[in-house]
Amino acid sequence: MFERRHLSSLERRLDNDELSLLSPYFQSHTLNAARIIEGSVPFWLRKSMCAVVLKHRIYFRTKFDKPSIGNVSFAINIELLAHELTHVEQYLSGMTIFKYLWASRHGYWKNPYEVEAYAKGAFIRTQILSKFSL
Ligand SMILES: [Zn+2]
Repeated sequence: MFERRHLSSLERRLDNDELSLLSPYFQSHTLNAARIIEGSVPFWLRKSMCAVVLKHRIYFRTKFDKPSIGNVSFAINIELLAHELTHVEQYLSGMTIFKYLWASRHGYWKNPYEVEAYAKGAFIRTQILSKFSL
């Protein structure tokens, strides 16, 4: 129980590996502002969603495995992190929760903020995998 509470209060910056992998694709302001919170999401988040971004904070429902090269989950995790960082950048560029919700009125998959985040996440995954010949 203590472990869980401890985990849910943990908030960290991107580490040096994450920063160097992602610095070609995001403004440094975005990467410096971003915070990762593991094991805790807002109560209203749909059960099917594994992460949510509120301003510069990225909440993961469970532990987030750092994308380390050579790890089997590297491709998935770097894409997930890049997706969520796109939302951080959107917030820092003027998106609000209200603008986000309004943009979702025709459904999650038609929300332009999500379309951008999925596209950028996939693009960054492809770029990084090819850079390291993975
Ligand atoms: Zn998203």
